[in-house]
Formats: sequence, structure tokens, C-alpha cells
Amino acid sequence: MTSDELVDVLIIGGGPAGMAAAIYAGGAKLRTVLVEKGATGGQIASTDTVDNYPGFPDGISGQGLAEKLEAHARRFGAEIVSDEVQGVERIPEGWLVKGYDHYRAKTLIIASGARERRLGVPGEEEYRGRGVSYCAVCDGAFFADQDVVVVGGGDSALTEGLYLTRMCRSVTVVHRRGELRAAREYQDRAFRNEKMRFVWHSVVEEVLGEEGKVRAVRLRDVRSGEVRELPTSGVFVYIGMIPNTDYLRGVVTMDDAGYIPTDELMRTSAPGVFACGDVRVTSLRQVATAVGDGAIAAMSAEAYLATLEHQAQTAAAQA
Ligand code: NAP
Repeated sequence: MTSDELVDVLIIGGGPAGMAAAIYAGGAKLRTVLVEKGATGGQIASTDTVDNYPGFPDGISGQGLAEKLEAHARRFGAEIVSDEVQGVERIPEGWLVKGYDHYRAKTLIIASGARERRLGVPGEEEYRGRGVSYCAVCDGAFFADQDVVVVGGGDSALTEGLYLTRMCRSVTVVHRRGELRAAREYQDRAFRNEKMRFVWHSVVEEVLGEEGKVRAVRLRDVRSGEVRELPTSGVFVYIGMIPNTDYLRGVVTMDDAGYIPTDELMRTSAPGVFACGDVRVTSLRQVATAVGDGAIAAMSAEAYLATLEHQAQTAAAQA
């Protein structure tokens, strides 16, 4: 695209929600540009296997699905550009999106997803990449035949923990409560796996290292207050997500955590701005729901553009 072009739809984020929006907007013959700051695919790009996306009974690799989604969006005419959006401003003809380049669009589809939450304890930052990881698929191979810790009790902690059992000697899940949040299916698989262990009612207070590598975590039992060291080579942190919406402060309404409320048509509080996927307030954050959201957002953008067009024609006829 050229810097002075006014496109119909600008999509921010190239995960499943953004790619589905691009497929539907492109399919509706709207001039569609998708902006992504990193590799396309979003969170699935660093997921080993997506097991529950309909139509793939044997599962599909996250990377493989990401590549298919991108190829599909391109085939339907969407342009994909690499840039990191820093801010968004209202302009008379729609929206100005500011990254390293500037983009002008009549409508915006926010599909910027969410990023991993950090523990915020001493040692976490110091040993990041030297034992502390947020991506089992990226880093698991470095821990072959070693003992690792996974922090968290949700779907991510268990799916990534189960993945780590393939190469690690043991995987100890440290969870702050006595009950997991993860889906029953993942819990059953984890409890059946002899390499998986569980430390309940405990939090990581510090990541401890030696010679530039992680050697243990300091755990605190939240009920008894007892503190102990658990030797480990790796600490995989899966304690939830933070929505990527900082660049939208003051543009659309958000909840206290930064997620964007929408109506069932994916409309946000701002005219011509739609949100889809993990970034919005929703009851389920899955690839299947993200792509559904993306399709609706694109169709709502099309309807909004048709209304604008109709209003312009009426105004021109009356002039
Ligand atoms: P999540 O569901 O929010 O779970 C976060 C876990 O971390 C919870 O168990 C939480 O404990 C714990 N936690 C939060 N803050 C903590 C802290 N400061 N210290 C220690 N523990 C802390 O996050 P997620 O597992 O990353 O999943 C995010 C979304 O993606 C969810 O909607 C999930 O269903 C979806 N997902 C789906 C799949 C799939 O294959 N179906 C795979 C991965 C993710 P509490 O339980 O006590 O709150």
C-alpha cells in the first residue's frame, strides 16, 4: 500500500482472528491490509499442536495452521505488512494508524491478541532465556532429559507441560491453588502421565541460578507459609495473558484488564472499529472462536462501509 492510500479495512494482528477477518474482508472485495509486528499466526505460531480445531482430527501443528491461514488470506487478496502499531487516531475519513509507517483506513479490525503474563519475581528477568521460558515449543529441546517446572494451572500450563514430557525427565506443575483451572480433558491426560508431578497451593517466590543458568525455584506454600527450594533446570511460565491494547487507550472502551467489550457484531465503542479474538471480552479464547469472531468483524465492517456509502450517496443527491 502507499502511505496516502485510504483502505477499506485495516486489520491489526495476524493471528487466527486477524487472518479470518482478512479472508472474509478480502472475499468481500474490500481493499484489505493486515498489519502484524512479528511472525504471522499469533500464539499458535509457538504452539506445538492445535488439537481441537475442527476439521483436523489428528491435530495440526500451530506453525502449519499459521501458514495455511496466511496463504488463505493472501489468496483472497489481503495485503500483509510488517509493522508495529503504536497508536490510533480519529481522522475525518476514518482512522489513522501509526506504526513505523502510517496507514489510513475507513474501518479498523482489532485482532492484536494477548501476550504472556510475567511472574514478576526476582531472577525471572535475569534468567530469561537461560532457563526461564514462556514457550515450551521454542525452548523445550534445550531441556532434554532434565527436570523442569511449569507455573500455572490453566490450559496452557497443562498442554505445554504435556508437550515437555516428551523430552524432559520430569515436569512439575506448580499451582497456587489445590484445583486446576484447565479443561478436564487436559487434567485427565496430565494426571495419567507418569512424568507429570504437581505441587499444590504454592507460588514461585524467586528463580535461583548458578553460573548463568537456573538451578532451582524458591517456593512458598500459600497456606502454611513454608518456604523451600525445588531444584530445576527450567521454569516455564504459563500464568495467563495480558491483552495487547496499550496502543488503543482512549480510543475504545476497555475493561479493567484491558480487554475490549464488543456487541455480537464485534462492534466496539468507536465507530467503524471492530474487535475479534483474544483481545475482546469473551467467554472462550480458542482458535475456533477467534476465527468466528474474525469472520463476523469483517462482515460488520462491510455493512458499516455500505452504510457510509449509502449516506454519502444520499447527501450527494440532496446537494
Ligand atoms: P488462564 O486460563 O488464565 O490460566 C492462568 C493460570 O495461571 C491459572 O491457573 C491461574 O491460577 C494461574 N495464575 C495467574 N496468575 C498467577 C500468578 N501471579 N502466580 C501464579 N499463578 C498464577 O491462562 P492460560 O492457561 O494461558 O490460557 C489463556 C486462554 O487460552 C484460556 O482461555 C485458555 O482456555 C486458552 N487456551 C486453550 C488451549 C486449548 O488447547 N484449548 C490451550 C492454551 C490456552 P488460578 O487458577 O488460581 O486463577
